[in-house]
Amino acid sequence: MTNFSMAANHSIRPVKEDVIFGMSLKAEEAIKRDGFKNIINSTIGALLDDEGKLVTFHSVFEVLKGLSDQQIAAYAPLSGMPEYIKCAIEATFMDCRPEGFIDGVATPGGSGAIRHAIWNYTDAGDKILTSNWFWEPYQTMASEHMRKIATYELYDENMDFNLKSFETSLSELLSEQKRALILLNTPAHNPTGYSLSSSEWLRLREVLVKLSKDENNKIVLFIDVAYLDFCEDEEREFFKILGGLPKNVLILVSFSMSKGYTFYGLRSGALIGVSSEEKVIKEFKEVCAHSNRGVWSNGTRAAMETLIEIYRNETVKEKVMAERKIHKEILKQRAEAFIDSASKVGLDLCPYKGGFFISIPHDDSIKIAEKLVEKNVFVVPLEKGLRFAVCAVSIDKCKTAPLLIKEMMDSL
Ligand code: PLP
Repeated sequence: MTNFSMAANHSIRPVKEDVIFGMSLKAEEAIKRDGFKNIINSTIGALLDDEGKLVTFHSVFEVLKGLSDQQIAAYAPLSGMPEYIKCAIEATFMDCRPEGFIDGVATPGGSGAIRHAIWNYTDAGDKILTSNWFWEPYQTMASEHMRKIATYELYDENMDFNLKSFETSLSELLSEQKRALILLNTPAHNPTGYSLSSSEWLRLREVLVKLSKDENNKIVLFIDVAYLDFCEDEEREFFKILGGLPKNVLILVSFSMSKGYTFYGLRSGALIGVSSEEKVIKEFKEVCAHSNRGVWSNGTRAAMETLIEIYRNETVKEKVMAERKIHKEILKQRAEAFIDSASKVGLDLCPYKGGFFISIPHDDSIKIAEKLVEKNVFVVPLEKGLRFAVCAVSIDKCKTAPLLIKEMMDSL
């Protein structure tokens, strides 16, 4: 009787505690007990102000609140409003648009874009390639669709991008499956803050070209740019080298309104496809539009209308960019404070180039995270280390945390 279940076989999965959620709950209890100023809660993956309140861009919400009831309530077309797709493409590439055929389909955030890439560009049972430090939900999304995750080493011996491991793993996967979907989270990787440099991008491109010489190989490179809007505009330069690739290399890019427009819960994004072959993009649009209908029908119209309004009106757009810039700067200062303190106390970090998180490599991260709770420091333990969300912690606390973490590591 204990094994009785109503769920279908494929839906019976090991029940795992959500580590981030669990740690956040502990932090909330500590705040109630000891007061916000006495705890360091670095578990939240969203921009918070120094008092722990969610940052929302006033300039964006002004637009949302100015929409008519009809604009908010109506259904959106299955693939998303055409004008929204145009704006999403423009917002993603800015003046670094790659050459080739480009189109997009609206999805509920970047997560929806990842889902469509997994479903439409891998077969049942396939492995999906990503780095060995990765955003945990990739695993959930893969298993939800009966796929698996395979990993390459993110770093080489100099803590640069391990292109050799990337190439070996991709080549093995192609020999096995003849098709490979790569989930590459850059710039400002979650959880490490790593970004591929221009030269790393050029060498990665060469690998793609080399492995696509076998025409039976199908390579789909999904670039997860969830934190792109919190990087410098020049970080978009790599997009330009993604044009003119062979037809058996498809580039997919996620667009999301979650972070860049503080629309986390409004669930709006897009999957953008880039190919040198028109037919590939036409097919991309068709398969993803079918997926939209088959999974969530259509996206949040109010969010689409908001983006359209922002891009239609130069003054509003400038206001949004200016507001975002202020928070980009705060994020930068917090990260600098953390890195500076870490260096002073000798705490090793993964190389950080930008974004919401900094990681601290460690083999026993669960133990360290649990012990840090006793010091009112809340960090997320990952398989390969600890994740500290600089996006959610004030400069002062970013300065204090490295010493507390280092002392704890040394004491165990
Ligand atoms: N990819 C990464 C690496 C993320 O960290 C997140 C959000 O935290 C997402 C994708 C997707 O976010 P959303 O679906 O809200 O756009």
